[in-house]
Amino acid sequence: MSSRSQCSYLIIGGGIIGCSIAYHLAKAGAKDIVLLEKSGLTEGATWHAAGLVGQLRSSRNTTRMLQRSVELYGRLEAETGQAIDWKQVGSLRLACSPDRMLEVKRLATMARSFGLEMQVIGPKEAYDLFPLIDPKGVLGAAFIPSDGQVDPASLCQAIAAGARRQGVKIEQGRKVLDATIVDGRITEVITDDGIYEGETVVLAAGMWSRELGRKLGVNVPACAVEHQYLVTEPIPGIPANLPTLRDPDRLVYYKQDAGGRLVIGGYEDDTVPFGERGIPGEFARQLLPENFDRFEPLAAYAGQVTPVVNTVGVRQLINGPIPYSADGDFVMGKAPELDNLFVATGFLYGIAAGGGAGAIMAEWILEGRPSLDLWPLDVRRFSFLNGTRAFMYPRAVEHYAHHYKLRYPGQESEVARGLRRSPLYEILKARGAVYGSKNGWERPNWFAPEGVEPVDRPGFTGQNWKPYVAEEHRAVREGVALIDQSSFSKFELRGPGALAAIQRLAVSNMDKPVGSVIYTQLCNERGGIEADLTVTRLAAERFYVVTGSGFGVHDAHWIESHLPKDGSAFLIEVTSGKAVINLCGPKARAVLAAVAEEDVSIESFPLATARQVTIGAAPVLAIRIGYVGELGWELHIPTEFGAHVYETLRTAGEAQGIRDVGYRAIESLRLEKGYLYWSADVTPDYTPYEAGLGFRVHLKSKGDFIGRAALEQQKAEGIARRLCTFTVDEAMPVFGGETILKDGRVIGLVCSAGFGTTVGKTVLYGYLPVDLTRESDFDIEAFGERYGARRVEGPLYDPRNERLKG
Ligand SMILES: Cc1cc2nc3c(=O)[nH]c(=O)nc-3n(C[C@H](O)[C@H](O)[C@H](O)COP(=O)(O)OP(=O)(O)OC[C@H]3O[C@@H](n4cnc5c(N)ncnc54)[C@H](O)[C@@H]3O)c2cc1C
Repeated sequence: MSSRSQCSYLIIGGGIIGCSIAYHLAKAGAKDIVLLEKSGLTEGATWHAAGLVGQLRSSRNTTRMLQRSVELYGRLEAETGQAIDWKQVGSLRLACSPDRMLEVKRLATMARSFGLEMQVIGPKEAYDLFPLIDPKGVLGAAFIPSDGQVDPASLCQAIAAGARRQGVKIEQGRKVLDATIVDGRITEVITDDGIYEGETVVLAAGMWSRELGRKLGVNVPACAVEHQYLVTEPIPGIPANLPTLRDPDRLVYYKQDAGGRLVIGGYEDDTVPFGERGIPGEFARQLLPENFDRFEPLAAYAGQVTPVVNTVGVRQLINGPIPYSADGDFVMGKAPELDNLFVATGFLYGIAAGGGAGAIMAEWILEGRPSLDLWPLDVRRFSFLNGTRAFMYPRAVEHYAHHYKLRYPGQESEVARGLRRSPLYEILKARGAVYGSKNGWERPNWFAPEGVEPVDRPGFTGQNWKPYVAEEHRAVREGVALIDQSSFSKFELRGPGALAAIQRLAVSNMDKPVGSVIYTQLCNERGGIEADLTVTRLAAERFYVVTGSGFGVHDAHWIESHLPKDGSAFLIEVTSGKAVINLCGPKARAVLAAVAEEDVSIESFPLATARQVTIGAAPVLAIRIGYVGELGWELHIPTEFGAHVYETLRTAGEAQGIRDVGYRAIESLRLEKGYLYWSADVTPDYTPYEAGLGFRVHLKSKGDFIGRAALEQQKAEGIARRLCTFTVDEAMPVFGGETILKDGRVIGLVCSAGFGTTVGKTVLYGYLPVDLTRESDFDIEAFGERYGARRVEGPLYDPRNERLKG
């Protein structure tokens, strides 16, 4: 009979990530932790990693997580007595093209707002730091002094030693085969040598996580692709303590190795997925066959960057599977499918991230959420399609190729496209729609007028779509437009307990008459905003919930995990059942009135109400709400009627000059109207009061709800920071993440920004400490340039909502 043991925390996987989670759980005081590793510690992807440790990423919280790695690596040797060869030599990033130089300046601006020191230096200083480079063609560089390099296997072993010392039990040679699931919980983890009953299970099995996840019915969109680096023979006279080096224009990175050698790796265009049909065999401490042909272009680039390498031999070419995910970022957090499973996988730079990721995961496990909002890494950003072979591998290969290659803000993926198409897809394509993709959906970004090529030409400035998006913006403000928003995530909350459940979840009073439409937030116990959505009461016990295209899994998980266990309320996803056309603009009523069988006059169809209407032969739920700041209806249509309703509206609207509008215009419209976007402007890090959404919190008219105590306290004590609106008179290149300064001092960062066509200014949002919210003059730094900005009160466009009432 097989052995059976119990523990509180069971971690699957003894790479750097699993070990670091075990270490940090124990450090936080958790007891009874067991880690299972099928072979030996480090023997997956960790042992052969190159060991570069960089910190700066495009998200502030991911950067903070990586900063925590560096803090740990700085003290680990002293704490455990085990050498890890941590060298804080700094990192150098070269810029060899004007756009790359712009990117370096943009990164410097970000680093500044994230509180990470980064210097922008000239080619001469770069050469002084790394005298092996040929400075010809180098325009400048970024230098981060606190970055470094480490020996990955020793690092992992030292973290494991630190974990053991705090009581963690590490069992090597113990392979997890399967698990038993009862009522949405893992009750037993079955290994090749015994059964483990862990109260909480953590899947940190690197590139094996997807297969294990599948066995448990859990979607883990993480995989691996081939990645190579070479180790040179010793280079005579090589200086000591070189910083790590990246030359993204020439796709290569460097690390100094023992014995005067260099490690040179890179990210080529055509890497190969690994283990697409399953990871072969045990794959322990194993490499893949060297592929010199694929490395050849990188070697040629390396010869240009550091000509000395042309004169020394190659000692070894390492080819290993590097973990990747469907969108090139980590896969972390609580699996929405099960009550007691966490995942931490898809780490393409797990050596750099390991220390911080373990700390964050320990918080997530012990406190229910991390101390920082990590939506860009949260497993709930993915839906089923992201974990499929058809989507994940092509996207992983594309992301890998862009790891260094410039990817401009808003640049769309070229692979795994056309997966989810609305019934209007072909019609709009014929009308010049240029599509982007979101959660597998094709969504029109903008429409190329006749004679204009329907393709995106992205860049930091001068994007080709701008004039056409501005025209679409004006069409919404002045005329009437149709926007295909079928990709919205849609749910019905039903049952005798539905009202009580939604009252418990939402900060607003949801007990409103049937036909009411309520814009509200769902908060966590700390008052942080977990979801920002609209709810329509369809019947006494039926609520229709609409949220963003990419937030469906997340929001549904939040709602479902707070529903009563007695089955009195349940959530049904209806996304695929409903096409959505947003009919908006001052002439929208005239168009709707021309086609609807019902009365849609101001008197009978007020703002924030919903009614069934008949358009042509289709039954349509018309919701008088929108995201663009004009009179309008979201028309929710049974999918198969979508094209018919579109054609009916289009024909009726010809006389009014109706036109198609895409998502890029929505962004500009919502910014000047002051509408917020969850994940950028509002996140679990901020409360409704801080976001200026206090008017949605109904403390007086409703009873208890999640977050009430925290919000009551904040209301009583006052807020410490507030979301503010800024304007800059000129069109500036902004994409979010820029720095806000007051008298030269960094005081915040921009959440979202863009050009407001109607107001004729750049509009930016960012949180300010409350003592600065009476000031009006600020500076915004973008791409290293400073722009004078004014803080302004309230929405810039139609602050009294007169246009909405229309
Ligand atoms: C060539 C190369 C160079 C790299 N260079 C760098 C770099 O310079 N910097 C950087 O930050 N990152 C680098 N990486 C990436 C880095 O290696 C990974 O991010 C990191 O090792 C991931 O750690 P992990 O713990 O998630 O996965 P792994 O180290 O693969 O650990 C997962 C563990 O789970 C175990 N496991 C799997 N299935 C089971 C099961 N059923 N039961 C029990 N145990 C199981 C495996 O045996 C394995 O030990 C590089 C990768 C490659 C390939």
